[in-house]
Amino acid sequence: MTATATVTASSQVTAFLPRMTLLKFKAVLEEAGSPAARQAAACYAAIVERGISPAFVLGLFAHESRYATDPNSIVYKFNNYNPGNCRSSTIGSMPLISTDRGVFVKYPDWATGFRDLANRLIVKNYVYAQEGRRTIEQIITRFAPVKDGNDTAGYIVKVVELMNGWITPAGGGNSNMGVTLPNITQTPSPNYDQGPTRKTKIVIHDIEGSFDSGNNWIDSSKSGVSAHYIVSADGKRIDQSIRESDIAWHAGNYKYNQEAIGIEHEGYQSFSTGPYPDVMLRVSAALVSQICKRNGIAPNRQNIIGHGEVPPPNNHTDPGPKWPWDRYMAYVLNEYNGELNHVTTDNQGPNPVAFNPNPNNFAVGQGVIEAATRMRFEVLTAEQYLVPESGQAAGLTKRSMTWVKSEDGKIYLILAIQDQDKNNNPLTTWTTQVWLQTV
Ligand SMILES: [Zn+2]
Repeated sequence: MTATATVTASSQVTAFLPRMTLLKFKAVLEEAGSPAARQAAACYAAIVERGISPAFVLGLFAHESRYATDPNSIVYKFNNYNPGNCRSSTIGSMPLISTDRGVFVKYPDWATGFRDLANRLIVKNYVYAQEGRRTIEQIITRFAPVKDGNDTAGYIVKVVELMNGWITPAGGGNSNMGVTLPNITQTPSPNYDQGPTRKTKIVIHDIEGSFDSGNNWIDSSKSGVSAHYIVSADGKRIDQSIRESDIAWHAGNYKYNQEAIGIEHEGYQSFSTGPYPDVMLRVSAALVSQICKRNGIAPNRQNIIGHGEVPPPNNHTDPGPKWPWDRYMAYVLNEYNGELNHVTTDNQGPNPVAFNPNPNNFAVGQGVIEAATRMRFEVLTAEQYLVPESGQAAGLTKRSMTWVKSEDGKIYLILAIQDQDKNNNPLTTWTTQVWLQTV
């Protein structure tokens, strides 16, 4: 499967997963010299929070005023922070300005302008929701009607073209982290059952061999095994053998085969040819992030598991205790949520994490959720899990992963880790890592 243009005039752009990354959104505005670039993150959040495609809204902004760089545009002349040239507000009363082309809203900043532009596409008492307009063509036909002198058809074509250049295509395109997903080749395997089944999990494997040996084995009817994808050690090759909706034979437990997408990785648990390469982990994480978005799978350790964590009758242990789950999940979440920057690591105290709103002063002391609530952080997701510890094949390490949002809108990931001693007894101290999501 090569990267293909997937947006058409009849693509739905409301109730939408953001397939355009924040980094790309920001880059487009910066490259255009748009005055909105400085508030790109807040603008993106205002759009995505309402379930609207950020690429679509950016397409409207491009066509209306070349991102407020067209000297003949209202927004350029009047500096009214109005990306869609809206003449009324759907988010409360806003001042209006009079121009030779009529009345327009003057917003206090770009984020508010984008919030209103996105909001009007879904709010119940406004025309788009009332008339059931959810696709590019349906919305632009109403947004820029021919009767007002617009080239509506040309507008639609332009927005579709722009969106196809920006979105993360299925099976290709740039990721947030600077790795490039290779185009996914297809070598079908006969070893599968017809779907569709709904996938709720992803199972991580290693081949115990090379990419080519694994791929040949999967594609041979003699093996009786398969996986949906296989990733090479150099991160330059991904092959798909089974459609995501079909059932691959990879988990050793048929219920998990039905529920899980399997991804094989070149290499050995024993590291006999070296550790799992970082580039492979990053490319795999980018693939996993896309699979999560396509299938509505939340990217956490309940849903993304090792083959060794599949219950019996599975009797495999791959990818083994040396698979660096924390680093790998951080990569997956980077891809899924945006960039994460490490803030601090703390190594003291008997309980995981209390933290101070000052990001440089996260201290250990109380439970994450309790502390977050007390500090008036909003807890977005919280999960706890056990993982095999590196170099301690018999042992497990307790982890918790909590996403919180501060009052000023910053998003933090807090990892709390309780390691074990040499005898596999849990240590009383926890290690806490705090990561800040940035753009
Ligand atoms: Zn396996």
